[in-house]
Amino acid sequence: MYLRGNEWEYLKACLDSGWISSAGAFTAQFEQAVAAYTGASCAVAVSSGTAALHLGLLSLGAGPGDYVITSNLTYVATANAIRYTGAEPIFVDIDAAAWQMDLALLEEFLHTRTELRDTGCHLRSDGRRIACLLPVHALGWTGDLEVLMRIAAAYRLPVLEDAADAMGARFAGRHVGTFGQAGCLSFNGNKIITAAAGGMVLTSDPELARRAHHLSVQAKAAPEDYFHDDTGYNYRMPALLAALGMAQLEQLDSILALKRALAARYAAELGPLEAQFPDIPPACASNHWLVTVMSPQRDRLLKTLQAAGQAARPVWWPLNRLPMFQDAPYISRQDQAYAVHRQALSLPSDPDLSEADFQAVIRAFQAAKA
Ligand SMILES: *Cc1c(COP(=O)(O)O)cnc(C)c1O
Repeated sequence: MYLRGNEWEYLKACLDSGWISSAGAFTAQFEQAVAAYTGASCAVAVSSGTAALHLGLLSLGAGPGDYVITSNLTYVATANAIRYTGAEPIFVDIDAAAWQMDLALLEEFLHTRTELRDTGCHLRSDGRRIACLLPVHALGWTGDLEVLMRIAAAYRLPVLEDAADAMGARFAGRHVGTFGQAGCLSFNGNKIITAAAGGMVLTSDPELARRAHHLSVQAKAAPEDYFHDDTGYNYRMPALLAALGMAQLEQLDSILALKRALAARYAAELGPLEAQFPDIPPACASNHWLVTVMSPQRDRLLKTLQAAGQAARPVWWPLNRLPMFQDAPYISRQDQAYAVHRQALSLPSDPDLSEADFQAVIRAFQAAKA
């Protein structure tokens, strides 16, 4: 966490205003600031990235009996949110280059196993509808979003982007989360900027934003009345968190610059030491949330670094290998997600990582190679 800005000042202003909960002015102010930063025309602030995914899916109409297609290598929240709606995930393997959803596999699956009807794209085998495509910009960068959006349009699939860990990342100059019908951000404590907790639904569709907001405030139909017209949720972001988020957003560009420089130093030093970096599309500017590499010495490196108190960590388990998702369809040829899971490690990526910590990482790779 990098708390070097106006955090105290805005928290105090929020407390002094007496409006610390979800009716406080900071929540709407944070929404406007994030919308302006990302270029989305609407933003809805909620209590977590998971809540943003849940409301994004509901607002796109995902529900019981539907499928939602997502990547097999992501944080578990992506698939949990699909389940909350009553829909079932279909997992697509990642590609060997950028470790994001394999778009060739996706296209082949859609071409051979689905059909278009008046109601949208349906799986041929059981006739169930595929409600949307949920790509993940995993670890802070993207695959080819132009190709992804072309495939989605060809099969009439709405797109909800899980950009929870990719705030600040861009593709062809455009901020992630603004390509699909909707996108989700997270402000959890481990993300590039944080509001202690929180999330955001981005969209350019005012009606979708209205639905997401409505569901986030228990679907209250009239302000002064207890009439509710849908099954809603208590998901609205409190102003106290939004105040923190405002202070963090002001620092995002400097955090991005620090992380870009750190990632470049890692690439220069570790490239020759058997560390394999992902091959990110040239059009993508990563936010370098977690600098992650594959190494044949992965287990040894993790052990050494963790024993030295360094914030090195493995990458998520592929979701098809978790007990609650093992029966979900998994579209894969080589199980690339498992290969990355077994050989990848995320390196200490704090924007203000000390020189001593940086050198400790380099030494661990040198020792592992020797
Ligand atoms: C962090 C994260 C989420 C969930 O966000 P929370 O704010 O922790 O609920 C979802 N998807 C991905 C890819 C994430 O990294």
